[in-house]
Amino acid sequence: MRRTGIFFHYQDGDRLRDFPAALAGILQKDNVFFFDAFYPGKPPSCFELEPISEDVLLRVHTPLMIRQVKDSGAYQGALYSAAGTVAAAVRIWTGEIDNAFVFTGYGDHHAGSSFFGGGCCFNGAAIAVQELRHRFGVSRVAIVDTDAHHGNGTWQIFENDPDVLYACLCPGSFEERRSKVNIEVPWTTTDDAFVQLVTDGFAARARSFRPDCIFWNWGYDGTRGEYGDMGLTPGCHVRVARELVRAADELCSGRIVVVLCGGSRRDLAREIIPRLIGVLCQ
Ligand SMILES: [Zn+2]
Ligand SMILES: [Zn+2]
Repeated sequence: MRRTGIFFHYQDGDRLRDFPAALAGILQKDNVFFFDAFYPGKPPSCFELEPISEDVLLRVHTPLMIRQVKDSGAYQGALYSAAGTVAAAVRIWTGEIDNAFVFTGYGDHHAGSSFFGGGCCFNGAAIAVQELRHRFGVSRVAIVDTDAHHGNGTWQIFENDPDVLYACLCPGSFEERRSKVNIEVPWTTTDDAFVQLVTDGFAARARSFRPDCIFWNWGYDGTRGEYGDMGLTPGCHVRVARELVRAADELCSGRIVVVLCGGSRRDLAREIIPRLIGVLCQ
């Protein structure tokens, strides 16, 4: 049974209003560990979540951009979102847990080294990658992105870094260079076709790349009825989770960090996220 960390911190908006209550059957498990920060009305937690310093942000983002995020009013939520991803990655690397799910208030993949937008402020996965490198000398990392939109920020940050495999599945055209690959998904697709793209497009490349850790920028905005509707059903995300957990088991001792990205509907979050975490902690 894998040890799964759930990182839960400050949230804005409606989509996660049913959490952590919706994880009732999961949080009681002996192999599930709940880390939180300062969520209002939070339940008793196992651990407090530590923030990250500006030095850690500066490994990825410019001073000007950090100041702009501060001025935007989203700084606190963005900082704790990124802090959750960093804490998850560090605890996985040190062997405290095997994998993790990070609830974020602000996402990752539209944040580049000097720009942000589209609900993303800091690129938590990129910051965590640099933290693993800085503290532990980790070199090779894979990031798979199944949010419905193109991860322009993550692509830009690692554009010239051959030791980061970044596979983005989105309706943009196919492109591949220096371990960065955009895997074209039709505007409307099926669960079977999408899972196939994950296995052929990401898992196969990861097998030859041999990452030390996998980050999954996971959005549910491609689900039917969402703002990035690609025709996927809720069950598709669970199937993708099984594939990626299997790949992590095979390639990097099960080390995978799931970072919540796009998606807006509260009912879909409540339906999908507990099932997805259920795959992680099996
Ligand atoms: Zn893309
Ligand atoms: Zn998106």
